[in-house]
Amino acid sequence: MSKIKVLDGGFSTQLSTHVGEKIDGDPLWTARFLVTEPNAVFATHLDFLRAGADIIQTNTYQATIDGFIEYLGINEEESLEIIRRAVDHAKNAVNVYNKEIENYTSVTNRKPLIAGSCGPYGACLHDGSEYTGSYGARVSQEFLINWHRPRVHALLEEGVDLLAIETIPCEREADAVVELLKEFPNARAWLSFSCRDDGKSLADGTSFRETAVRCYKNALPGQILAVGVNCIAPQCVTSLLKGVNKGNTEDFIPLVVYPNSGEKYVVTEGWKKDGEVLSLHEFIDEWLDLGVRYIGGCCRTYATDVKRIKSKVDQRRAT
Ligand SMILES: [Zn+2]
Repeated sequence: MSKIKVLDGGFSTQLSTHVGEKIDGDPLWTARFLVTEPNAVFATHLDFLRAGADIIQTNTYQATIDGFIEYLGINEEESLEIIRRAVDHAKNAVNVYNKEIENYTSVTNRKPLIAGSCGPYGACLHDGSEYTGSYGARVSQEFLINWHRPRVHALLEEGVDLLAIETIPCEREADAVVELLKEFPNARAWLSFSCRDDGKSLADGTSFRETAVRCYKNALPGQILAVGVNCIAPQCVTSLLKGVNKGNTEDFIPLVVYPNSGEKYVVTEGWKKDGEVLSLHEFIDEWLDLGVRYIGGCCRTYATDVKRIKSKVDQRRAT
């Protein structure tokens, strides 16, 4: 069971413990803090490492050239420099953490890795379409490849260990990213989707299972480390993940999951509890039994949640 990797939690959520509740609603979201409060970005990474994350993600989900040009008034090269700097914040946190644990033999998350976060095209549109994938019908695969390329290139060049392609809401974008990754044959990535609550569909209404399996198989061998879901209510995860390896007689496809807290984001009101909210911690064993190899939290999960995930995974590792 040592192959299970614990991821970090919701970056915006933990960041809010350092900067207050002024993140949601900003068109650059957490990416703005790369410029305004880099120390808080560093501190957020460190929180997750201390909580036991084996892999932390760079604060680049919504760090896009389009967004920086529009909302910071800077040019493309300056935008790429901010993205490279985001990798350095994560590296600095890993270095500080490694020094802290030097003399503690009981620590299990040694040599933590850095995943370069790549959010979907919809995240830069700032119109909620990262949760519908509606743009998949009007932009071409080529457009999406070209849009994703500069950030992927900058993250890899700056030395991330892998890429977190995440919250992808439409099949066209997933296929585009798989094609783009072929230009970087040494890169490794997980591919995580934004899905509906029905247990079977991507946000754009197409089949999660078909798209996830196709992407895994179309990628260069070994390039996609896992496929899965993020930023979804915990109780909606199992039926999605169950489908991936159902009837699969070939190689087992590894899975990634990092759900949100189950609360819902309402633009005018923020995060709200809608009915009964089940904690992700109740599902961890179930997901690991299904073949999840990468597990963490997304929005509204804190470093304390990572700590709980970690202790559960450590229990499994010990058996
Ligand atoms: Zn999220």
